[in-house]
Amino acid sequence: MAELKVTAIKDGTVIDHIPAGKGLKVIEILHLNRPNGGALLLASNVRSGKLGRKDIVKVEGRFLSEEEVNKIALIAPTATVNIVRDYGVSEKFKVEVPDEITGILHCANPNCVSNHEHTVSRFHVVSREPLKVRCHYCERTMEGDEILRNL
Ligand SMILES: [Zn+2]
Repeated sequence: MAELKVTAIKDGTVIDHIPAGKGLKVIEILHLNRPNGGALLLASNVRSGKLGRKDIVKVEGRFLSEEEVNKIALIAPTATVNIVRDYGVSEKFKVEVPDEITGILHCANPNCVSNHEHTVSRFHVVSREPLKVRCHYCERTMEGDEILRNL
């Protein structure tokens, strides 16, 4: 039954095992709410053996790129991504926080060179649980809500 729900869209992406309450943030970060002709579904606070409660996001007609998946990893490190083609799961992978995050996060230090020059931001992941990153340029560290605010 659970598998049936996951594959209920014809083509698209299902992001499963999102921590409960983070589904909307996933939609916001990935700009999934932009009209593109496909349906967007958010299942909130779904019972899950693994996490207690979880959110599920289904987006029709769109396949996530690796860069997008990395963005999800920052707020939903437990998420799994299912690529659905013709009602079947053609690819399934777990998102992973990369060793280095480039071009997604903004540095919280207003004086950081990455906020002024045409520099691509670059962070080193120093801890995954809890998530903690350090700016390559000014060595400022960010974690928790500060990371979410600067995405
Ligand atoms: Zn910085």
